[in-house]
Amino acid sequence: MRMSESFEVDPADRDRDGDTGPMAPETIVCVDCGGVCHLLTRPFVEENGSVGFQPGDIVAYRCEDCLDRWDIELE
Ligand SMILES: [Zn+2]
Repeated sequence: MRMSESFEVDPADRDRDGDTGPMAPETIVCVDCGGVCHLLTRPFVEENGSVGFQPGDIVAYRCEDCLDRWDIELE
């Protein structure tokens, strides 16, 4: 049996991940009805043009089935 090369994460990728900050998915699953909740809040745009969210941001979702609103605090 031949040993495969150990998997290593490219340090550049790791740095990019660190710059993106907390991610808010475009959709989440509704806790109440299992429907699809769509992101209402648009990502924060920084002065350097990068788009993202800040830790502690509240992002709002609206369920397309039961129309419930969900507010999620990012970590
Ligand atoms: Zn729902």
